[in-house]
Amino acid sequence: MSEETSFRDRPINMDEDGKRKWIYTKKPNGKWYKYRSLFSYFWLATFIGIPFIKINGNPLIILDIAHRKFIIFGAIFWAQDTFIMALLMLSFVIFILVFTVTFGRVWCGWACPQTIFLEMVFRKIEHLIEGDYKERYKLDQADFNAKKIFKKVLKHSIFIIISFLMTNIFLMWFIGYEKLFELASEPITENLSGFLIMLVVSAFFYWVYSFFREQICTWVCPYGRMQGVLLDSQSIVVNYDYKRGEPRGGKNSEGDCVNCQHCVSVCPTGIDIRNGTQLECINCTACIEACDSTMERIKKPKGLIRFDSIKGIETGKNTVFSTRTKAYSLVLLLIFGFFVYTLLTRPSIETTILRTPGTMFQETDNGQILNLYNIRIINKTHTETPIEIKLESHNAKMEIAGSEIILKDHDSYESTIILYLDKNQLTGKKTDIEFGIYTNGELKETYDVTFVGP
Ligand code: SF4
Ligand code: SF4
Repeated sequence: MSEETSFRDRPINMDEDGKRKWIYTKKPNGKWYKYRSLFSYFWLATFIGIPFIKINGNPLIILDIAHRKFIIFGAIFWAQDTFIMALLMLSFVIFILVFTVTFGRVWCGWACPQTIFLEMVFRKIEHLIEGDYKERYKLDQADFNAKKIFKKVLKHSIFIIISFLMTNIFLMWFIGYEKLFELASEPITENLSGFLIMLVVSAFFYWVYSFFREQICTWVCPYGRMQGVLLDSQSIVVNYDYKRGEPRGGKNSEGDCVNCQHCVSVCPTGIDIRNGTQLECINCTACIEACDSTMERIKKPKGLIRFDSIKGIETGKNTVFSTRTKAYSLVLLLIFGFFVYTLLTRPSIETTILRTPGTMFQETDNGQILNLYNIRIINKTHTETPIEIKLESHNAKMEIAGSEIILKDHDSYESTIILYLDKNQLTGKKTDIEFGIYTNGELKETYDVTFVGP
């Protein structure tokens, strides 16, 4: 197999015998890396900070799976909110698909937690302790001596501590920081199973970021594997301008690529972008700035590797701001707008009224017809809410078991309603009736049911 096509034989991090080939990534350096670092610091601050943010004494976001209660930007979702959650998930999936078709795998290189932690936390610590790629390679090849043992023990000890801290932060997203601090202050023996789970999760993080690394992006992540069907010739991805670069090789070649290999040595997934768009590329932009610095040195225009579509490279026309990109961006904005609108306009209370199962109508001594209903009201707000139930459609007698209804925050109320209608109010065997649910005198919701009669 020729050198040019041998990359298709196997993943770049695998040798001919199928064994793992360790990737020694050169430390990126340049404008894009600076932007990526700044963005990742903001991302990390958000990830760590969000569990501590409260609005009116309630968490900003909490994913309380145990109690099937999710608070997202202050809005509470219960298990009963399956429809709205499904709608939000669907709009999220459509958002991801349209975003990927338009802008490729930018999420992976810039915002995916796997990349942020690997490239911006663990890899930076590794660079700091073991040096850049050549030093790291030499260190790994060298026999164990005091210096090597010191560096390896120091690095892995820090990795273990960070993995354990990551597990704690993740846990805060699910149970809140107060609960975590409470658990931490209790003897381990009282929460032994929980503690063991935390150790297993920490060990998993440690293994992923110390050893498994980029294989998550290339082998495991389903989103990564979907790139082949999502991208097309108009998708904006990190691309090599082969028209300008080839034939590569240096002084006597006609192309601009001098074959310095800098784009390959900075790639965290170990690929050569000059072979075209590949599943392994996470659009991290490290090769763009590596190549730009080479171009600067040899006094050629930057952008031999750049964000562009295959079509853009082929035609030489700028496709980054094409009609398609603009139209798809508009669709993305609309989906995001719908997402925010759905979040903001959710009803603050949710009512369900159903005729009590197994009951028919009854006739009273004074000739009225009565029906029984089961009512359930959920308070989705953070405040204590007084509830009043009225019959909107008819002037009739109504009895509700229990006294005044005051729903505490996130609480639910269940009771039975007995409704009496005069025979002359009935419109047949089934009469449509409407209940109104009021809070503080304000109509919040109406609910239609049928009243059965003779
Ligand atoms: S090819 Fe370039 S953009 Fe893609 S992963 Fe490698 S360095 Fe990052
Ligand atoms: S960094 Fe640029 S010039 Fe160097 S090998 Fe890669 S594409 Fe060619």
